[in-house]
Amino acid sequence: MLHLLNYIGGQLVAPHAGRYLDNPEPATGQVFSRIPDSDAHDVQQAVAAAEAALPAWRLLPAEERGRLLVRISELIERDLERLAQAESQDNGKPVSLARAVDIPRAASNFAFFGTAAQHFASETHFQEGVALNYTVRHPLGVVGCISPWNLPLYLFTWKIAPALAAGCCVVAKPSEITPYTAFLLSELCIEAGLPAGVLNIVHGTGPGAGQPIIEHPAIKAISFTGGTKTGEHIARTAAPMFKKLSLELGGKNPNLIFADCDLDEAVRTSLRSSFANQGQICLCGSRILVERSIYEPFKERFLAGVAGLTVGDPQRAESRQGALVSEAHLQKVMSYIELAQQEGGRLLAGGQRVQLEGRCAGGYFLQPTVFEGLAPDCRTNREEIFGPVVTLAPFDTEEEALTWANGTEYGLAATIWTRDLNRAHRVAHALHSGIVWINTWLHRDLRTPFGGMKNSGVGREGGVEALRFFTEPQSITVKL
Ligand code: NAD
Repeated sequence: MLHLLNYIGGQLVAPHAGRYLDNPEPATGQVFSRIPDSDAHDVQQAVAAAEAALPAWRLLPAEERGRLLVRISELIERDLERLAQAESQDNGKPVSLARAVDIPRAASNFAFFGTAAQHFASETHFQEGVALNYTVRHPLGVVGCISPWNLPLYLFTWKIAPALAAGCCVVAKPSEITPYTAFLLSELCIEAGLPAGVLNIVHGTGPGAGQPIIEHPAIKAISFTGGTKTGEHIARTAAPMFKKLSLELGGKNPNLIFADCDLDEAVRTSLRSSFANQGQICLCGSRILVERSIYEPFKERFLAGVAGLTVGDPQRAESRQGALVSEAHLQKVMSYIELAQQEGGRLLAGGQRVQLEGRCAGGYFLQPTVFEGLAPDCRTNREEIFGPVVTLAPFDTEEEALTWANGTEYGLAATIWTRDLNRAHRVAHALHSGIVWINTWLHRDLRTPFGGMKNSGVGREGGVEALRFFTEPQSITVKL
């Protein structure tokens, strides 16, 4: 049995209380590893190691910090296959997806911020004959990074890399549901020669290991990605301590499909945006709104596409849908399928748990599921399901589509499908959504601000926004 360890002060260490949690493989339901069930004592050791490492790390020239981050990126690329297999085993996602998306993106996160730190300049505001004002951006200090289970290494590194690049030391906690690649990352950090204590990875549950991070007075900022309820709890705990907060939370994203779109492309991409990673991406579009004149042709082609999404062993190349991340999450998603039926939804596809044979007989598989006939304000259309379940609905006017699209408490991402340039911009500006894709989905340029409006979060990650988040600006004025 694989025993994962914490990474504290440059060492791989057991939790001080000696307690471990079972970690099952979603595709089989079998426990394949045990992870540290860390507590406040382990977090305290991690914070102490980070504080000890901080003075030297923050003074290291940005190029040298960057070189180390680029080295970690290279090691991730070298180990791509091993990491992809581990991510798939831990999360249930098809290994092909981890190989094409999760692991390459984790490598890019380190390469991007390793080099970005070298181009991150402070501002100077010169008032001729009066004053010179300049801004120093100090690293914040020791920061906490907490991430979810859906894109484990991808999101973990998306926080850690900019924090390290900005000169901060980090205490990080991956999701207890998918800890494996974070553990492998700690091995790669040791191999890369990252100085001891600069990055510390503490495994464990939210209440056990996460809570002591958000409460710790020496931790100056929390960068969190996860559910809106957890984000609210973190804000309630950390805000009165005046910690800086970046909260990337849930979504209930709309796809707006207008009659003048490229229908084939809109269908193809909507299939991906609905069901990639079994619908467990915060950016997945789960409410598909289609202009009435093309509603039937869209539906027909979309359902034909859904029929081709093979649910199977994540290790097999032909599997398009892997397992959901846990039995508990599968039950939650299935409860929404029941709710959709109670709310009057017509089931167009899926709706059932999938029972596979052999190795995967105990896995958490679900058919990709499509409903229509649900009102825009019912719970199925307002609450985040975070699984392979989408609703289709026709609309008649742009105003109606916008009212529906904006009618939830969330505002993370949206897609618009149209060939009308004016409409594309007009609708994009009217959407209450931090990210809008026009005729595409999940196109990511790491320089762009990433984050949500309304209950989808506070603050933005990505590019200069992330480097600014992890620094404290100090304005200095010299009288001339
Ligand atoms: P979650 O909120 O249950 O857990 C996220 C992390 O927070 C885990 O590491 C967990 O252990 C930790 N945590 C839980 N309680 C804590 C506490 N009291 N103190 C400190 N840490 C605590 O979320 P999840 O179920 O892992 O992830 C799914 C959610 O994440 C969905 O809502 C999804 O939309 C959201 N998400 C958002 C984005 C985004 O960028 N906006 C990206 C991916 C996922």
